[in-house]
Amino acid sequence: MSTNRLKERLDKGPVICAEGFLFEIERRGYMASGEFVPMVSLDHPEVLENLHREFQHAGSDIVEAFTYNGHREKMRIIGKEELLEPLNRSALKIAKKVALDTPEGSKPNLMAGNISNSNIWKHNDHQSQKEVEGMFTEMVGWAVEEGADMLIGETFYYAEEAFRALEVMKKTGLPTVLTISPMGENKMRDGKSVVDTCKKLEQLGADVVGLNCFRGPATMFPFLKEIREAVKCHVGALPIPYRTNEDYPTFFNLPDRSNCDCPSPHGRTFPTALDPHFCNRYEIGKFAKDAYALGIHYLGVCCGANPMLIREVAESIGLKVPASKYRENMENHFMYGKNKRIPKHISTYGDKA
Ligand SMILES: [Zn+2]
Repeated sequence: MSTNRLKERLDKGPVICAEGFLFEIERRGYMASGEFVPMVSLDHPEVLENLHREFQHAGSDIVEAFTYNGHREKMRIIGKEELLEPLNRSALKIAKKVALDTPEGSKPNLMAGNISNSNIWKHNDHQSQKEVEGMFTEMVGWAVEEGADMLIGETFYYAEEAFRALEVMKKTGLPTVLTISPMGENKMRDGKSVVDTCKKLEQLGADVVGLNCFRGPATMFPFLKEIREAVKCHVGALPIPYRTNEDYPTFFNLPDRSNCDCPSPHGRTFPTALDPHFCNRYEIGKFAKDAYALGIHYLGVCCGANPMLIREVAESIGLKVPASKYRENMENHFMYGKNKRIPKHISTYGDKA
């Protein structure tokens, strides 16, 4: 019986997992927004490898293979089904390479295989559910073959789909993380409550249950409190860094903030015009600190994440990571710094700047 490296580390303290590769790779110009297929592992493997390294430098303990949306159905939609297995294997190999090559000052990393919402799962439809199970099985199989240390199932908005994903993951014997993503109705699409879904996932044997994506700190935190009280296993918290609120609990329907002269051509801020809603780093740091104080040890940021925010998560719970070398130092700012060498005629001009 091999040891559960993920659980061992979570029992001792925090484990950080950077997610949100979809948005960040899109911002860097290597993925079509809306379509969101991670061809980057085949088209520009060096870009993906470097992003993994940047997140690792910022404190991520887990290198999650970027196979989100890299499933058979999505590959059919774009007419590239023949690239399904190469895409998955390439993403997994890149993640493994980075995980085995941690920089000085980092803890050893874990490489995670990844499956997620299929978007063809249909309630009470045996045919669609069988098909989804097949998609999960093939992806999990490739992850095991490429040396995954653990498996992450994420962004499920159907409870039953999350249960099926976990069943497939559990067959491998690897540590499992299963995080769900309730939409604006504040319950799962098949009617189950968020807390009951997490309780069931714990019963089914997940090492970590919790929430990722769709919700910003403000609308994710109340659920996390309830989940932390309801389960005994570890809990995961990976919000999006956007200011969702009670009226708009997820980022899908967030209206623009104020009199935007240039709204997006497709009629909503999601996913290309969310920028004015972006959380600052202190908001994300506060979220991580508060979640950790509740006893939530598995922490990260989902869509919208960048290395700066991952460093903020790490530092807010008292960790020092390689990127801490370059944390903010306003002391030496040319106008707002307190360094003795900052000339008085410049520092006194700060309020007029
Ligand atoms: Zn996300």
